Amino acid sequence: MSMISCLPVSDPDCSGLDRARAMIAAWQLDKAWIGGEWRGADSREEIVVINPATGKKIGAVPFLRTSETRRAIDAADAAFAGWAGLLASERAGFLKRWRDLMIDHQEDLACLITAEQGKPIDQARREVVGAIAYAEWYGEEARRAYGQTMPANQPDRRVIVQKHPVGVVAAITPWNFPLTMVVRKCAPALAAGCTVIVKPAEDTPLSALAVAKLAEMAGFPKGVFNVVTGQPGPIGEALTGDVRVRMLSFTGSTAIGKRLMVQCAETVKKLSMELGGNAPFIVFDDADIDAAVAGAMISKYRNAGQTCVCANRILVQDGVYDAFVAKFIAASLAQKTGDGFDAQTDIGPLINARAISKVERLITDAVAHGGVLHTASNIPDQGFFIAPTVITGLSTDAACFNEELFAPVAPIYRFATEADAIHLANHVKTGLSSYIYSRDIGRIHRVADALDVGVVGINDGTTSHEGAPFGGVKESGQGREGGHWGLEEYLEVKYLNIAL
Ligand code: ADP
Repeated sequence: MSMISCLPVSDPDCSGLDRARAMIAAWQLDKAWIGGEWRGADSREEIVVINPATGKKIGAVPFLRTSETRRAIDAADAAFAGWAGLLASERAGFLKRWRDLMIDHQEDLACLITAEQGKPIDQARREVVGAIAYAEWYGEEARRAYGQTMPANQPDRRVIVQKHPVGVVAAITPWNFPLTMVVRKCAPALAAGCTVIVKPAEDTPLSALAVAKLAEMAGFPKGVFNVVTGQPGPIGEALTGDVRVRMLSFTGSTAIGKRLMVQCAETVKKLSMELGGNAPFIVFDDADIDAAVAGAMISKYRNAGQTCVCANRILVQDGVYDAFVAKFIAASLAQKTGDGFDAQTDIGPLINARAISKVERLITDAVAHGGVLHTASNIPDQGFFIAPTVITGLSTDAACFNEELFAPVAPIYRFATEADAIHLANHVKTGLSSYIYSRDIGRIHRVADALDVGVVGINDGTTSHEGAPFGGVKESGQGREGGHWGLEEYLEVKYLNIAL
């Protein structure tokens, strides 16, 4: 067991940002976690972590490269046999302690998420609840890596199908859910008996280091769980190029995902890829319009529009177009944009200046394709903010029909028939999430069947559920996270043919 029995937390009455700062100092979140040791970079270089609501520094983490990543692989490889050899109930015990520690430190973790990622504190609290749910689910699921027996093809044979952990797993995670994405990958991997090396996004490494601290407290053996922070290219090459790493679990952009798939081809790694989305949000004439507006508000503006399941294309049928648009614009302009620690804030900042430039390019292009902007005017004058913006009248040739906006910007397109809606929805390269608003059960099933996606929200703007299979088709990736499907990703199948 670790020497640490209790981590100090700051005064609960201080501001959220002060609480996050105190936590970063008290938990010493300035080192990477490799082989059961907190380590700096060989070069002593650091990456500065910025609060996107202010543009100011809140921390710094090691800028690791190839050599340190190899040490993490050495550690994960050395730890694998021992970890895989534990009873499933023993691995479950570690996961349950990890989950209990997340519960003990819920508010600290939420403040840390808002400080490094920017989302409103209530959404950060919900993210922590989500991470806890994944840790809990896989603490239970560890015992259910069931195999099978099957009828043999000869009388004196027996056939057994067993499940085995894949081996050392590399998990590369994004910045939009800096805590949940780490736990959603690592909890099932650890439950299955794999050891893990996490590379969090450079914008939000602190939440990953915080869960490593909690893993240390939970007593995970050295090398079972590692976190490397630093330069994505060299770390990614070290992880994907090493034959000892047997699987890559990646969440991020389709462009980087494709590159990593190529890199993994050389050693034929198992892949779980959760890539970009471009969710259609389809409102039919028979929908409950108020419910559709409420669902679109959640789906579009959660996390400032920075989720891969955010409504990226709102498709509205002729008969309710005017009513929907009027209500959606009114609700959008009433959103308050600001610092995530301000209790009044609905929409926080974007992650960085690059994200602002990208969405500004897409807005300019939408206007060039006939778009009319309906936008709020009040946004803070520091940090990476963009006002909620609804775009009407744009053509489907606009770049944002095919590209993820990842911002609180909502293009609305008009359609005439059910067939038109399906055609528009599917006429893109990706297929992750989608939403249908209708009260016609026949139509709901017809359209849900026809959509080329992995997830369909029906009369609901949220679909998150730790027990459900989350993932996409086409260029949105392969594999599923959540539920038993999530555990299976980290298991290999071995078939035994026995002559009696
Ligand atoms: P986004 O564009 O939303 O930031 P990315 O796909 O660039 O999404 O980032 C997702 C994750 O992939 C992050 O952890 C990032 O550091 C990592 N990443 C980016 N480029 C590479 C690369 N060349 N090799 C490995 N990981 C990378």
